[in-house]
Amino acid sequence: MNYIERFRVQPNTKVDLRKVDAGFTDTHESHKAALPEIEVHVQKLHDLQYLMYAEGKRSLLICLQGRDAAGKDGTINHVLGAMNPQGCPVTGFKVPSKEEAAHDFLWRYHKAAPAKGQVAIFNRSHYEDVLVVRVHDLVPKSVWSKRYAHINAFEKMLHDNGAHILKFYLHIDPEEQLKRFKQRIDDPTRHWKISDGDYAERPFWDAYTAAFEDALGKCSKSHAPWFIIPSNHKWFRNLAVSRIVTETLEALNMRFPEPTVDLAEIKDKYHAIVSEAGKTKKKRKKGKSK
Ligand code: ADP
Repeated sequence: MNYIERFRVQPNTKVDLRKVDAGFTDTHESHKAALPEIEVHVQKLHDLQYLMYAEGKRSLLICLQGRDAAGKDGTINHVLGAMNPQGCPVTGFKVPSKEEAAHDFLWRYHKAAPAKGQVAIFNRSHYEDVLVVRVHDLVPKSVWSKRYAHINAFEKMLHDNGAHILKFYLHIDPEEQLKRFKQRIDDPTRHWKISDGDYAERPFWDAYTAAFEDALGKCSKSHAPWFIIPSNHKWFRNLAVSRIVTETLEALNMRFPEPTVDLAEIKDKYHAIVSEAGKTKKKRKKGKSK
């Protein structure tokens, strides 16, 4: 099954998240069974990001969105963490600072967009400005409703400048979210992850669903697609995301750049040094044995 086609939101569609099975695992029976395939994709991801960095012509922006405990951090940790941090900046977006709030809403995201050769990861993204902002009326509807067009224009501009864009909505159901909240309570090493916000947002589940559905439907474009990833099973989420990113990067047919030096000349120089070093070593040995 082609995962890009399977999970991509078609442009200009009305998304109904209630129809999407968050527990879907395709033909894979268990984490154990899927693990070898995940490992292959994660290794490929590492190699392809190295190639993108070396080529230095194009870039990739990966946006991760989802409800609290949907697995944004886990996806970065288990999948995208395979890439070399030198060419792979990760930016998390929280409540805007005073300075950020004083600018247009896209300002802070534009600053973190990938440079050529980079894979930039957004942990939350410019979509917060049509999600939490819309659900909690942080700005009037007349303001947030224009943002879908602003976002589409922004992403098109990034794309025209050489950026490829993949946006993942990590889809969990309310029961799975509660299960994960409990795991956080039961595991002292996860206590730091618990926030009042998690519980404060629960009553707004349906309002978030409507906001996600609009964002996914209005802003999935062929050059900047949204993917709805069934994420109740963390391992399936990892499999799907790693496969989609890998397949996207493979399709770019990237090439290592031509060397900037005359390789034949460099090889001659190398062999001359090796032969000189060999002679010096011999002389040293002779000197010691006298
Ligand atoms: P995490 O991303 O790990 O959940 P936090 O628990 O600190 O980190 O949550 C970040 C919070 O910032 C979220 O509640 C999110 O909705 C909020 N946030 C992000 N962007 C914006 C924004 N543009 N306006 C208002 N709140 C935002």
